[in-house]
Amino acid sequence: AKEQGGGVYRFFSAEMREETLMRHTLQQDMRGAAARGEFILHYQPRVSLHSLEVVSAEALIRWRHPRLGNVPPDCFIGLAEENGCIAEIGAWVLTEAVRQVAAWRNGGRMLKISVNLSPRQLNDRGIVDTVREVLDREGLPPEALELEITESALMQDQNLAISVMRELKHLGVQLSIDDFGTGYSSLSHLRKFPLDCLKLDRSFLDEEQASDINPLILAESIIDLAHALKLSVVAEGVENAEHLDFLRRTSCDEVQGYVISRPLPAAEFEACFAGWRCI
Ligand code: C2E
Ligand code: CA
Ligand code: CA
Ligand code: CA
Repeated sequence: AKEQGGGVYRFFSAEMREETLMRHTLQQDMRGAAARGEFILHYQPRVSLHSLEVVSAEALIRWRHPRLGNVPPDCFIGLAEENGCIAEIGAWVLTEAVRQVAAWRNGGRMLKISVNLSPRQLNDRGIVDTVREVLDREGLPPEALELEITESALMQDQNLAISVMRELKHLGVQLSIDDFGTGYSSLSHLRKFPLDCLKLDRSFLDEEQASDINPLILAESIIDLAHALKLSVVAEGVENAEHLDFLRRTSCDEVQGYVISRPLPAAEFEACFAGWRCI
């Protein structure tokens, strides 16, 4: 950047202006992007540590922006929450993910599917009808669909969240708490919500965060507590053989992470994981 009066401040504000512009561009461009076919889903396998089989997949959205190329979800989901586009994008994700897993099941592969719900989606009663309609249309049994909810979605209007979650449970879908361990809530606090599954954030496996407590004992006690609350436990972000080894010595139920596979486009997922056994 050219040195001018104002120095660092000038540079900083130029950067901020660029960021504001980028946010504005993305927020404009995401309108109608679902209908234009710019989104695709990638699927990341979840492996049961009991059967050592791929039992499920998490659907993760990708935006192929016509000019900017791939825009990662962390860069646009928050913006979609702000401008309300999340309703349209979320409905597209749900429809596409359910359609895909129904197709795999019709081909004999009895997988389940996890779909991420953003806070704004959970805090809107309309989600219940959307989920019911999508399941009916694709003929997917509700227990094959899991909705992943983050702690922040539970913190907004707790009574609304609980009531929407009860209605979703009434439909028969599974509910999980995502990124557990990154937020503020304790396991006992989570008891208020009708959850089936807890996804342990990958920071649990982070060696940098190691304390005096033996990490195996710490993980095991969280998993035991979760089990006492009737929650199954999935460890996410499992990157290497050491982590996997470690988790196999706990009572953790499922693992997900690069050690198994990165999220893959549907065709690649199908090629790799139809009838596939790991470990
Ligand atoms: P998340 O729900 O926690 O998803 C897991 C993220 O971790 C994914 O990033 C995945 O690619 C990445 N990951 C998986 N295994 C590993 C591993 O072993 N190591 C590391 N370091 N990372 C791993 P991705 O796909 O970029 O998604 C980021 C976030 O964007 C998601 O975090 C989720 O919060 C949000 N997101 C993605 N798709 C959707 C969607 O369809 N709807 C909503 N509301 N949010 C979504
Ligand atoms: Ca998730
Ligand atoms: Ca997560
Ligand atoms: Ca763990």
